[in-house]
Formats: sequence, C-alpha cells, structure tokens
Amino acid sequence: MIPKSKAEGVPDFVLLNQITENAFIENLITRHKTDNIYTYIGDVVISSNPFKKMNIYNESDIKNYNGRYKYEMPPHIYALANDAYRSMRQNQEKQCVIISGESGAGKTEASKKIMQFLTFVSSKSNEGERISKMLLESNPLLEAFGNAKTLRNDNSSRFGKYMEMQFNPVGSPIGGKITNYLLEKSRVVGRANGERSFHIFYQMLKGLSQSKLNELGLTPNASSYDYLKKSGCFDVSTIDDSADFKAVIKAMETLGLKENDQNSIWRILSAILHIGNISFVETSEQKTGTTTVRVADQKPLAAVSQCLKTDPHALSMALCYRSISTGVGKRCSVISVPMDVAQATFSRDALAKALYERLFQWLVSKINTIINSPEKGPVIGILDIYGFEVFDTNSFEQLNINYCNEKLQQLFIELTLKSEQEEYIREGIEWQNIDYFNNKPICELIEKKPMGLVSLLDEACLIAKSTDETFLQSICKNFEKNPHFQSYQSSRDRSIGDTCFRMKHYAGDVTYDVRGFLDKNKDTLFGDLITCMQSSSDSLINGLFPPTRPEDSKRRPETAGSQFRNAMNALITTLLACSPHYVRCIKSNDNKQAGIIDEERVRHQVRYLGLLENVRVRRAGFANRQTYERFATRYKMLSKATWPTFNGNAKQATEAILAAHNIKKEEYRMGKTKIFIRNPTTLFYFEEKRESEM
Ligand code: ADP
Ligand code: MG
Repeated sequence: MIPKSKAEGVPDFVLLNQITENAFIENLITRHKTDNIYTYIGDVVISSNPFKKMNIYNESDIKNYNGRYKYEMPPHIYALANDAYRSMRQNQEKQCVIISGESGAGKTEASKKIMQFLTFVSSKSNEGERISKMLLESNPLLEAFGNAKTLRNDNSSRFGKYMEMQFNPVGSPIGGKITNYLLEKSRVVGRANGERSFHIFYQMLKGLSQSKLNELGLTPNASSYDYLKKSGCFDVSTIDDSADFKAVIKAMETLGLKENDQNSIWRILSAILHIGNISFVETSEQKTGTTTVRVADQKPLAAVSQCLKTDPHALSMALCYRSISTGVGKRCSVISVPMDVAQATFSRDALAKALYERLFQWLVSKINTIINSPEKGPVIGILDIYGFEVFDTNSFEQLNINYCNEKLQQLFIELTLKSEQEEYIREGIEWQNIDYFNNKPICELIEKKPMGLVSLLDEACLIAKSTDETFLQSICKNFEKNPHFQSYQSSRDRSIGDTCFRMKHYAGDVTYDVRGFLDKNKDTLFGDLITCMQSSSDSLINGLFPPTRPEDSKRRPETAGSQFRNAMNALITTLLACSPHYVRCIKSNDNKQAGIIDEERVRHQVRYLGLLENVRVRRAGFANRQTYERFATRYKMLSKATWPTFNGNAKQATEAILAAHNIKKEEYRMGKTKIFIRNPTTLFYFEEKRESEM
C-alpha cells in the first residue's frame, strides 16, 4: 500500500500530512488523474468515477487480491470485497456492503464489481459456479426493467436493491435473495425531456423479430408510442439496445424463465405501449343531457385487449366509467359514474404504471424463487440504491429517494463517526471529540410519527377535501420553525414557487413541487380496472391482480409513502445486524467525461459525505485497532519474550512485543480489550517483519 511515488498521492487519506479540505481534495484529484480511482479512509473505500474503462478488473486482478490483506496491495474495491468474504468465513458473520453516492457516481458499477469478485473467488464447485452464474445474470435482467437513461446517468437505477448472497459454511455460494425498493413507476408514463423510460421498452422494440412484433401489434419505431415519444429521447450513444436485449434473453434463459413467461412479459410491455396511445373524447347525450367519455380510437384499445387477453368492451367501460357503491346492506347498489377526459386519462396511466410495477415485482419474486436456498448460512449483502437527486422539478419520487439517502448517511454516522468515538470512550482511551454534521433531525422531519412529513401526507390523503395545496399549507404550518424546512410563505424566498417547499438535505437544498403528491401517495387503481385485469385469461397477468382478501377490503391500503418509510426502517434493521463495509462513490464531473475532475463538484460531495470528519475521527484516533488476542497471536513470533512460549495473558504479550521493537508510546494506546495503533505504517512494519520471518 506504500505509494509508488508522490505523484500518485497517498493511498489512504489518514496518511495525509495535513488533514485539511484542500489537502484531501488535492489528493483525490491527484489520484484520479493518475488513474488511481480508489483511495481508503481506513476501512472505507472512496471511489471516484473515471467514466472510462479501467484495466483493473481482469481475472488476474481478482486473483491478485484474493486472500491478500488490504495493506499489501494498492486500494481496490476487490480488497473490500475480499475483506467482507474473509470476515464472513472467519467469523461466520453476516456482512453488508453499503454503497452510497449521488446519481451517476458509480454505485451500481461498484456493486457489480463486488459480485464479480465474490462469485469468482467462491465458486470452486460446479454447483457453486451454477449458482454464481444465476446471481450474476440477475443484474442485466433487473437493470433492463429497473434502469433508465436520466439526465444524470445513462444507466440510472430507478429502484433500490439489496442483494444478499448466501454461502455455505465453507464459503461456497448456495443462493441469494433480492429485496427491491420503490420502483419509480411514474417513468412509464412520463419523464423529463431528454430522458428515457425503462431500457426494456427500447430493447424489446429493437430486439424482437418482425413476426413477433406483428403478433404484438407493434412497430419497431419507438416514436409511434406516446409514452416513449413524449420525452423526445430514443437512442443513446452509450447504449446498444439490441445487444442488451440479447443479454436479457440470455439472462432469462440462465435463470430458467420459460418461453410462455417470456411471452407474457412481452405482451404486458406491449400492452403498456398501446395503453399510452389510447385517448378519450367527450360525448354528450342529447336525450339526457349528460356528458360521458369514450375511447377515441378503437385500434390501440383492441391491441391492449389482445395483449392482455381481456374483453375490449369491458376494458373500455373500466377506462371510462367508475363503479361506486351507494347505500348499505340490502339497499346497497352499484352505480356507474362516467369519468371526464382528465379522470379517464389519469386512470389509464394508473393502469399502465400498475402493470409495470407489478410485472417488475413478479420478476423479482420469480428470480428469488429460482435463486433462494433453503439452507442457512452466512450472507454478504450488497446495497445498491438510488443516489441523492436534484432536478429542476422534484416530486414525490425525489423526496423518497433523498429520504433514503438521508437514512443511509445517518447509518454511516452512527456506525463510523459515532461508534468509533464511542469505542474510544468504552475502551478508556483519552479522546478529543470531533464535531460532525448530524442529519438525524432531517430524517425525523420526514419520518417521525405522528407529525412528520410522511404522516402529514397520509393524513391529507384520508381527508376527502384535501388537495396538494392544503397539504402544502399544513406542512408549512407544522414545520414553520424547522431549520431544515423552507417555504415561500415561511421565508418569503422568491426562488421557492408557491406550490413548492424546500428541504435542507445533508447533501444540499432541494425544492419539491407538491403537485401530484396526494395522488402518488394514494396510488389508487380503480376497482373496475382491477376486475378487468383479473378477468384476463393469461395466468401471469391475472396473477398480478390477486383477489382482495375479505380482511383487507375494510382496511385502508398502505400509502406509497408509509410503505417506503417502513421498508427503509426494515432495511436499516437488516443492515445493523451485519458487519458493515462502506464504499463512498464520488461523481467526478457532471458531463460523464473521462479525464475530468471538477474540483467544486468534488468539494461539495466531500463536504456533505462528511469525509474529512471521517478522516479526522480515524486519524486523531487510531488507524488500526485489534483485540490483544489477535495481535499477540499474529506477531508473537517477532519477539524472544513471546516465542516459542509465553506465560502471561494476551495484553501482556502485546506489551512485550511492542517493547521488543521499541515502538514509541505515542504510537499506540492500550485499551481495555484492544490495542489502538496510530499509524498504519507501524502495522506495515509488523507485517513486513512477520513475512520475513515466515
Ligand atoms: P450510480 O449507480 O451511482 O448512479 P453507475 O454505477 O450507474 O452510477 O455509474 C454511472 C456510469 O459511470 C456507468 O455507466 C459507467 O459509464 C461509469 N462508471 C462508474 N463506475 C465506473 C468504473 N469503476 N469504471 C469505469 N466506469 C465507471
Ligand atoms: Mg445505480
């Protein structure tokens, strides 16, 4: 780990001569420019996105890192993967790798590299290899359905993923489990200009044979579909949709997704495209004087029905009318209320989104039934979740995404900055406290019950009279004094629109527009459409809309916001049960350009990620700590006092070893159960001695 030359900077930020922001950034830039994209802060890997292919992920590289210690090799994500694997095997303990960073910083790539390493080093049998292949193939498949080109990233994850790899006690892979988090389904029906819908739509149009397309009523032209056309982006220079489609088919085959399942999938995706082409017109009945809507053009409607295997008339009725029950008990009757054009369009979009979301969920469950193993054994979980996001217009989705990032930052603070300091205190080591920005109040502003933002939104959704505007008024009133919340009313800040509020996130200020919040949180799909989907003769499709159980019919369905809050808290509980490993990804520039590292952008990220505080805690403290048992066992052969025999306890042995090598008192502290070593170089010294003895 000793740097080859000063020109490459230091491989661990704790080795900087001076711990200042400038020195930190200078080192990061130097390393980036010399193609050293990885640097440590102790055990944490900092990665700066090179936006170019790096020649450091070959099989030979994996072999070089396999089984080695971190300090023996230049910093690499493989070293972290290797540590996680080693700890899991040695201690038979759950491990997790938490990857954070903003959108486009390199999280998904990092997660794939870790999986690549783990599957390679662990698959020593045919069975292990078979499992590994399936785990790896789940990536292209889920990315096709869950990723999209955004303004920030050409392959942006629009869902969160926690992938657990299961191992047997000797460290061979036996299975896996994927937990997914809130898919940004609104993307199916619309998105910012210059962005795309989910990759799979474009792949399918390019990849399916002409006869298959005919069968589905499709043309290969993406611009024929309103849902795809509206954001004006079809081809992306960095994306090869045809090749990716082939990879998807291969993945489906490896995972054992049968042809009839594949066909159902193409039919659902095609139906969604056709749904977007359905439009409505108003018709007034002169006799009764009522206005109703009808589907304007029967062609897309017929195509949808054919793809979904439903009756076109029933579908048309479900799109244009809403059944409402009136009265109670025996007097109860159902009346059919016509919708207006806006309502029908809204309900049409709700159907498209529900179909896509449920298909995605089905796919994840299907993969899980294929890769899950009933055997129990230690796991390594890899968390790759959407990064912090700020757009010109931010909505409910961005709020959830950014809330998720707040939670992960909170976890990082708890596990590294806070727990590290607490450990010094617990071990009785003299310690000067280091300040850091604690984002807990922001998490609470969002999630606290009963007066947090999510709860207030739920409350608004319960009251029939509520609108997005009344919801905005309620939060402005409730958070008037909260330093992390701002609105036009509270601050008279002209830059905040009158349908907006602003949150001061740890990673920066984000202005959210409340328009659509209530609908997105309620996430309703009208009963008539559900009934219509249940009547599909395709078992995959009707299976996506299971009958409501009698016990659920009275309960209010959980809102999207609460569901997400609960899922996040469950995730944190899962992560807390693991030994954590951290990758902090830095986005080097906003133009996805190789060879460019934008100092100001980097400075901003270094600040909000709390990296300097991380170095300070690590360094003012001690770069390394280990139990006396471990230290004494590892280095006992380095002193005549402890080798070949020693009569004292591990702490005494440790003291004897340190004395035999004249290690200065400032270099270490003796805690209650552990030795704390200040400089990594001291540890390298012992490691080198040990190696030369062996
Ligand atoms: P995130 O998941 O954080 O949003 P990604 O992992 O999708 O970001 O990375 C965005 C893009 O950056 C990738 O598509 C790739 O082009 C580039 N990239 C990220 N990490 C690396 C890496 N280690 N080496 C080369 N290119 C990378
Ligand atoms: Mg990603």
